[in-house]
Amino acid sequence: MACKKCRKIQQIILGNISYITEELFDVQIFKSPEFQKRMDICLKCSSTTWMTKFEFLAHIHKYTITLFKNLGDFEKIPSLPKQGPGKNRKLICMICKCPIQSKARVNDSHCSLNKW
Ligand code: SF4
Repeated sequence: MACKKCRKIQQIILGNISYITEELFDVQIFKSPEFQKRMDICLKCSSTTWMTKFEFLAHIHKYTITLFKNLGDFEKIPSLPKQGPGKNRKLICMICKCPIQSKARVNDSHCSLNKW
């Protein structure tokens, strides 16, 4: 049985592979049947922000040491700045720092606030 951190890493990889495959090749390799319901909940959640890849990576980079000290636990780094939608911005959870399009696809992922 995988540890909690290994499971989370596995979920991040699976969610991103699924999302990228659909974006690039229009092929769905897997997507949780709960995907749309989860997306709808996240879109109404006040703990979301919209960021480009560059903005997201710049924020994460600022807290590399914090992330390292907390063994890669993204929930331990300060919240992302609140922003609205814009060009090339994706919906991100401000608590777990996951791109929602990827996170919501993985069957055994869950909301940090237990909303889904
Ligand atoms: S995963 Fe949960 S806390 Fe994060 S944006 Fe979605 S509903 Fe909100």
